[in-house]
Amino acid sequence: MSSISKKRVHLYLIKPSSYDDDGYIVRYFRGVLPSNTLACLAALTERARERGILPGLELRTHLIDETVARVDVRKIARSNRGRNKAIVCLVGVQTSQFPRAADLAREFRKSGVTVLIGGFHVSGLLNTVSEIPAQMQDLLDSGVCLVKGEVEEAWDEILKDAVLDRLEPLYDFTETRPDLEHAPVPLVDRKYLKRFASSDFGTVDCGRGCPYKCSFCTIINVQGQKMRFRSPEAIEQAIRENYRARHVWFYFFTDDNFARNRNWEKIFDALTRLREIEGIPVSFMMQVDTQSHRIPRFIDKAASAGCSNVFIGMESINEENLKAAGKNQNNVGDYRNLIEAYRTAGIVTHAGYIVGFPHDTAESVQADLDRLMNEVQVDMASFFILTPLPGSHDYVRYLRDGVDLDPDFNNYDSFHQTMPHPGFPEKGSLVKTSHHAWNTFYNRHNMARVLNRCGEKRYWQLFRNFIWYKTAIVVERRHPMMAGFLRLKGRKQLRPGLAPLPRLEYLKTRAKELRLSMSALSAVFLEMQMLWLETRKQSELEKRIRTEIGQLSVQKIHLSDVQRAYAGVRASLPSVTVPSKLKLFFQKWNPFTLSGQFYRSEEVLGFWKRTSVELNRGRAWCVLRPTVIKRAWLDFKVTAHFAWALALKTGGEVSS
Ligand code: SF4
Repeated sequence: MSSISKKRVHLYLIKPSSYDDDGYIVRYFRGVLPSNTLACLAALTERARERGILPGLELRTHLIDETVARVDVRKIARSNRGRNKAIVCLVGVQTSQFPRAADLAREFRKSGVTVLIGGFHVSGLLNTVSEIPAQMQDLLDSGVCLVKGEVEEAWDEILKDAVLDRLEPLYDFTETRPDLEHAPVPLVDRKYLKRFASSDFGTVDCGRGCPYKCSFCTIINVQGQKMRFRSPEAIEQAIRENYRARHVWFYFFTDDNFARNRNWEKIFDALTRLREIEGIPVSFMMQVDTQSHRIPRFIDKAASAGCSNVFIGMESINEENLKAAGKNQNNVGDYRNLIEAYRTAGIVTHAGYIVGFPHDTAESVQADLDRLMNEVQVDMASFFILTPLPGSHDYVRYLRDGVDLDPDFNNYDSFHQTMPHPGFPEKGSLVKTSHHAWNTFYNRHNMARVLNRCGEKRYWQLFRNFIWYKTAIVVERRHPMMAGFLRLKGRKQLRPGLAPLPRLEYLKTRAKELRLSMSALSAVFLEMQMLWLETRKQSELEKRIRTEIGQLSVQKIHLSDVQRAYAGVRASLPSVTVPSKLKLFFQKWNPFTLSGQFYRSEEVLGFWKRTSVELNRGRAWCVLRPTVIKRAWLDFKVTAHFAWALALKTGGEVSS
């Protein structure tokens, strides 16, 4: 190491974002899912530091997730001057992030910064093609280093090579997949987590690889069918440490199939001990296959260990589609039992569902959706457009068959159509069907049914998830797991080749976007408020009155109808004391109770729309009418109660 003349090394671990349809970099004020790859590489770098692989050098690690933080290329390039050296590692690059990663890499190389790119796209694509594709060759020619495969056992050497400016153009570790048993557990960085909606949220990949062979999946190719696992003791120790030192208590186990982790029982037992003996309220979500409920004790132990959500790779409810995708392990006839088994254990179920399989059409997807909501009764669902990801069997097959694939990898995010589909011949119809699936599943009626059957324990957890999903679908129009809260943009933060708008025009466009976002956000808030009123825990009396009133015609409700409804309630619930008119009057005006607010629906919105029309016509006197004042008070009261409940129930720890 005597040839090292630099004093300080700045290692920038950057998770790149992607571009939106207008070419702007996708970035949010707050994100939702932290990157596990960043956490893995932070842990490997920390181990390298402890091992003293760079003697005499100060190593500073910077974690940057571009979906929640701006990558300041000039500032980073400035840290590459004098006795300082900057190394940029673009990590965990998925296919849809590759164009952005490549643009960043080229910018950094122009400033002379050392750059490496790794992740599923590089590994998957280079594993499935015989020649290096032009885009990657272009990067290699500009001096970018490509890393294929997992780096657990090679990170120290790569770092040394980068510091000594002796990087190979391409590192390939796919043939020698690392043993995870002794690899450091992903490191939680509190400063990084502060950029996310919940900063108590950590990630761990307890194992990698999957024994199955689904044709659309890249896991088999990149991580292999032979599974590898972290040590349960190391996971237990990291979780204990993360809680005590950083107050992280909620985890996403990112394993693509936790049910096939041979250590699942030891991990669950360890988590149960942490919860029951050490009082650490650990809770987690995991991904499993559709046969997981058949593993003896798996679900019960998961529940005792604090599992709150399970993401299930259901993919389709159409047997023909599953067969075409090689997903033979899925048994549609057993889906209901699977969901029921998790629900009985108090675990929220979330189905991963793919739209655009060979046997899909707009009509068949609608029919499948009905089954998913009414028959299978899954609590949540995520819809992905089938995407031929480089590294999957599908990609190889489509390339071989000369299918017209979208050349822009930025679109490979499962929200765009990237290849023709005979079942959706009209342009845009597949995307439309996918949007329809999101909107249908997350309509108020279905969400209300889910909340009504979920039980009190999971009510607020599901409610919070529904807010997150509705906001992503309606406001951000992106996949909830890829979206965040409050979109940020920069006039010049554009895809290369696109000209920035003139300043004034940009401001006008942004103002319009913000206005539309605020109005969409208000609509989501109102919808969620109505959902809460429909599903919150009510007294017997209130429930009964709502049922009676629900049977009346919503178009015209006369006082006599309501009186009849009250009489019905009195007759059917003799043990319940029906409040007197005077008491009801006070309840209505009492700011601390909602029991006077028996009904609220689109009628309310209709009322305010009519009032605003009158105001627009210049009939200002109408706002002074007693009905308007009364309704304004009631609505204000409901909104205040809802906001209070939200702040109380969704701000703290999820009950586990
Ligand atoms: S889709 Fe899931 S079950 Fe199928 S190969 Fe990939 S990780 Fe395994």
